[in-house]
Amino acid sequence: MAKQVHSDRILRAGESAGYIGEGDALVSNNAGIYVGVRTADCQPILIVDPDRRVVAAIHAGWRGTAARIAAKAVGRLRRDFGSDSTRLVVAIGPCIRACCFEVGPEVAIQFKELFPERDGELGKKTHLDLTEANRRQIAAAGVPDRNIHIVPLCTFCSNEFHSYRRDKDKGRMVSAIGIIG
Ligand SMILES: [Zn+2]
Repeated sequence: MAKQVHSDRILRAGESAGYIGEGDALVSNNAGIYVGVRTADCQPILIVDPDRRVVAAIHAGWRGTAARIAAKAVGRLRRDFGSDSTRLVVAIGPCIRACCFEVGPEVAIQFKELFPERDGELGKKTHLDLTEANRRQIAAAGVPDRNIHIVPLCTFCSNEFHSYRRDKDKGRMVSAIGIIG
């Protein structure tokens, strides 16, 4: 796991378990090592390349999403491991959805490029859909729609999930992925 700092920094996991530094995405091709992220409203994203046997776990809050961390992680898999983005399979987990995620204009404005159809709304206080933002980035990075699986649930609406905005507590969910040796 990484010490998550809402960045776009991608770390390569080592061969033993533990914390490997500051960052918000981890990639690994080491069998038996799971990479994971902790979230409570932010977006967890897991990626597998079944051909190259590589996995990635991504923590994308609005900052990481605005910094395109998911698209950068796909790029990292391509560069470091020779992944073909059309072969990647992606799981986008539960996060705070547009129903509950109100943001100010200073945040909304950063999503103008991703949501060109909302041009007029993103200059003021509005609701943001992080899942759709990440889905668009991942699709634009070359992953086919049929390979992108979305859990369409809102962490704030649904009591079965931890929600930082709702509860202001330390509860987190772990999303992890690994290659069985
Ligand atoms: Zn909601």
